[in-house]
Amino acid sequence: MLGTCRLTLLALLVGEFLASPASGNSAQAPASPKAGPAESASKTLTPSKFLQNLPAGFTLPLRSDQVGWRLLADYGAVFVARGGVTPPPCLIFPDAASLARWRSGLKIGRATMAGKVVELQAPALEALLAARAEALKAHLNITLRARDGAARSYGRTSQLWTWRVQAALAHWVKAGRLSKTDAARLRALAPREQVPEILLLEQQGLFFSADFTKPILNSVAPPGASQHLSMLALDIRQSDNRKVRAILARHGWFQTIPLDLPHFTYLGVPESQLPSLGLKLVEQKGRPFWVPDLKD
Ligand SMILES: [Zn+2]
Repeated sequence: MLGTCRLTLLALLVGEFLASPASGNSAQAPASPKAGPAESASKTLTPSKFLQNLPAGFTLPLRSDQVGWRLLADYGAVFVARGGVTPPPCLIFPDAASLARWRSGLKIGRATMAGKVVELQAPALEALLAARAEALKAHLNITLRARDGAARSYGRTSQLWTWRVQAALAHWVKAGRLSKTDAARLRALAPREQVPEILLLEQQGLFFSADFTKPILNSVAPPGASQHLSMLALDIRQSDNRKVRAILARHGWFQTIPLDLPHFTYLGVPESQLPSLGLKLVEQKGRPFWVPDLKD
């Protein structure tokens, strides 16, 4: 079930889990091992470099949880963040209270940039401010795309998800691709139940992004799964500028969600060290994105 984390990394290390893990942005869950239990165990004792770099005690989705694996593939880079920050402990925060508990143990920094308050984990904020100082020296700038361009509350991520889903349902009904009855049924579901159904509709070309041309996960995360909850993510106005992206990268900020063009994630290491964390480089629209390599 989406939102729960039942299998620990320790279980993975000793178990029969990932014979063929999900990869890139694939929606596929790991394939079942073809060999018998004894043989498969001997072949799967080494998890991918990415899985080895997850925080101690991090819980993985069940093998049958395709949505969970899709979220790990799409949003997972943040879980191997370094540089003195604390990566989120779980794939999805189940509610606002669990997020608040986790945040209460973080060292959080707060600053104002171009009139907007920026709240991030302290080392991530320090790196951002250093990047901005470097940008300003080069007559460039780094500013938030919106007031909620850095940290977001659990409620705000729920609201963004609901707005996006409602708008897309209305669009596809109007376009004659979805019946009013199906749209009403989907609208009434809890977000965690909406996710697999939306992914199925997107396989048929009914995309749920803001312009209805991209997967919903490339522009908004299901409640509890957003990188912005971890206080390690940032949406900026200047993301089209190659020089600005290079400055951010020099300070540990990288793009990790393909097609989410304004979005950056604090990973806290030089670019040359990202492969050693189990991240791989993919290029989309001429830009580099560092995503989990679940197969390596
Ligand atoms: Zn973002």
